[in-house]
Amino acid sequence: MKRFALAGNPNCGKTTLFNNLTGSTAHVGNWPGVTVEKKDGTYKKLKEPVSIIDLPGIYSLSPYTDEEVISRNYILDENPDCVINIVDATNLERNLYLTTQLLEIDVPVVVALNMMDLVDKQGDTVDEKELEKILGVPVVKVSALEETNLKELMEVAYKASEKPREGTSILSKKDLLHLIGDVKIAFKGKKVLHPLFHAVKLCENDELEVKHHEELLPMVDEFKKTMKDSTFGDDIEAIIADDRYNYIAGHISKVYKKHVEVNEDGSEKKVKETKSDRIDKVLTHKVFGLLIFAAILFLVFHLTFSENLFFLGKIFENNEVAPCFEGSMYEGLFWTDAGINSPGVILFNFFDMSFAGIIDAVSGAMEAGLGEGHWLTGFVCDGVLSGLFAIIGFLPQILVLFLFFSIMEDTGYMARVAFILDRIFRRFGLSGRAFIPMIMGFGCSVPAMINTRTLADEHEKIATIRVIPFFSCGAKLPILVAIAGGICEVFGFKSVDLITYSMYVVGIVTAICAVLIMRHTTQRGEAAPFIMELPTYHWPQFKALMIHLWDKTKHFVKKAFTIILASTIVIWFLSNFGWNWHMVEMEDSILTSLGQLIQPLFTPLGFGSQLSAFGWVFAVAAITGLIAKENVIATFSVLTAVIVAGFEGTEDGVEEAVQMIQATGITWQGAISFIAFNMLTIPCFAACATAKGELRKGTFKWTLLFWIVASFIGSAIIYSFLSCFSEGSLKWAIPVSVSILLLAVLAVYLIRRNEKLKAAK
Ligand code: GDP
Ligand code: MG
Repeated sequence: MKRFALAGNPNCGKTTLFNNLTGSTAHVGNWPGVTVEKKDGTYKKLKEPVSIIDLPGIYSLSPYTDEEVISRNYILDENPDCVINIVDATNLERNLYLTTQLLEIDVPVVVALNMMDLVDKQGDTVDEKELEKILGVPVVKVSALEETNLKELMEVAYKASEKPREGTSILSKKDLLHLIGDVKIAFKGKKVLHPLFHAVKLCENDELEVKHHEELLPMVDEFKKTMKDSTFGDDIEAIIADDRYNYIAGHISKVYKKHVEVNEDGSEKKVKETKSDRIDKVLTHKVFGLLIFAAILFLVFHLTFSENLFFLGKIFENNEVAPCFEGSMYEGLFWTDAGINSPGVILFNFFDMSFAGIIDAVSGAMEAGLGEGHWLTGFVCDGVLSGLFAIIGFLPQILVLFLFFSIMEDTGYMARVAFILDRIFRRFGLSGRAFIPMIMGFGCSVPAMINTRTLADEHEKIATIRVIPFFSCGAKLPILVAIAGGICEVFGFKSVDLITYSMYVVGIVTAICAVLIMRHTTQRGEAAPFIMELPTYHWPQFKALMIHLWDKTKHFVKKAFTIILASTIVIWFLSNFGWNWHMVEMEDSILTSLGQLIQPLFTPLGFGSQLSAFGWVFAVAAITGLIAKENVIATFSVLTAVIVAGFEGTEDGVEEAVQMIQATGITWQGAISFIAFNMLTIPCFAACATAKGELRKGTFKWTLLFWIVASFIGSAIIYSFLSCFSEGSLKWAIPVSVSILLLAVLAVYLIRRNEKLKAAK
């Protein structure tokens, strides 16, 4: 089967094209750096099926980042039948830089001029025939998004793949060409493939090239002596880059014609600020940008978790306003005494009611068949179904949260966030590049850790991988929601969303502190410069949003029915059987004895030996969470069914958390510390395996230790700090502590800036 590789700058639309050609559902994001690994699929609409490979986005073929190495090696070593170079037509000049390098490889190249829909909308024109002349390879106008001309593109690529192509160079400096020509002959003599490409790179002193062809270096150096360019000395890499830019700049005006409006007297109208520029002025403003981001984040959490939407609860306080609603069947689903439910909570309630019905029906049927109190009924209803539903029940809220995140990402807003945060993160020793995997960490740590490959500096990469789990992933959401809900119910606090929001902030702040410490001790270094094109704003694409959500759902449901189902069954057995392998009371079970063994470890964190009878359940839940974070709540659910006689296992995770809090006598400080512990400690198996794979040999064990230490210290601090507040002051404790945390970070930031200024003087 023929293989066509898609190559191009980050964010030029490769993945969109790839998805539309192959029918795949790879992640499309409106910011650079989303595709790190190469993916392949099949295009079937030609006379024979061809394989399509989506390569990571790159600006050049120099080996500075892993993406560049992956893409370069693929094209050089795997000999694709054609390289389709995708070029963002709205950004032609910058994109063609890569094209000039691709042309030097001995492979058929076809240029796909993408985003033509945007070009047309702006009223600009591109002359593709002229561009063909300039580059010497076929050029096809397409829109990956609107799927225009894709078939034609593939046909042109197919035709190009039929005959071999020899690399060509657009470089024009005479002595430079001479030098490259000589080196090329040397390569040819050694029967090296792609002699022109290697010759150029060797002259550039390219790291990889030098490593592989050391024997040719003396010759190159000898030649170089004869060349002394006036502006660049003997830095040939700079001379070559300059030559490329000059070539592009010199020809671009013939190709790309901007639409200009003309005044009546024939003079050009001043270029108006575009809408996007005006929006950016506000959204990336030093102060407002941050405030707006914080506000948007809060709104998102509010819409997902709040049971008092827009704080309208007052209206319901004395039910006079809406007497007609009272006692209606929708009470509880759409609103409660506390106020109106947010969309996230409504969906959650809806699922919850359906599940309760299912469990009731199953347990009813089984009791009718097997008689009252049969162990099998307990196993199916308490061990399997309640654990499973406790997890699946969170799917709606997770989806609502991710819908908002996907919208922020697809519109291009997330890229602005990375941009404004880069200014701050830089002071802490990280670049905005590191911020992208961190934001991805809110979804799942696994792809986030893989994405750290975009970081050039090894120490920055290690530090980033270590703090990614602190950006609370989707699987930790159930822990947050259930326990925060339980705290609110037992201790009479009103805003679940305020607790969840604060816990996210705690995670972020811990990450910042940890990075700061690491970058000054074990992982020293300065942040690499971060250059990111801000992508154009556009309305979120319905299809892309649905792909994101569908991926999440698939992943989540699969996990629920495999690893989590298996764990809940094991927990049920361990909590119902004793060491003699007979069914016993909970007090004598294997799980109880194991839990009691490790329980004292957590005493300084507020959920250890100070708790009464069932205090060890928190210890057990934290341990099962190491397999998958959803297990924490699934464990609660299975254990509640055992501990609380007659508990039907029909309620949502919140009710289980309530039961756990009451059965163990844990304080709210301890409960919050427990949430923090789970957020900061060793992530799930899958994330650990990924971290192990991504980290250099020997660093993984330190990383595990780091997570253990961070979670113990972090939770102990939170617990002892919150213990200053009494039960009644829960309302104040959260905002006060979050503000103190933020102030602490601000202080560190200012101190560091001062130091920098001093050093600069
Ligand atoms: P990649 O980084 O090269 O893989 O780029 P993506 O496929 O992730 O696309 C980046 C952004 O550009 C996404 O928001 C796409 O919706 C958008 N995009 C891609 N192709 C087109 C196009 O032809 N027209 C327009 N208007 N937008 C596009
Ligand atoms: Mg991509």
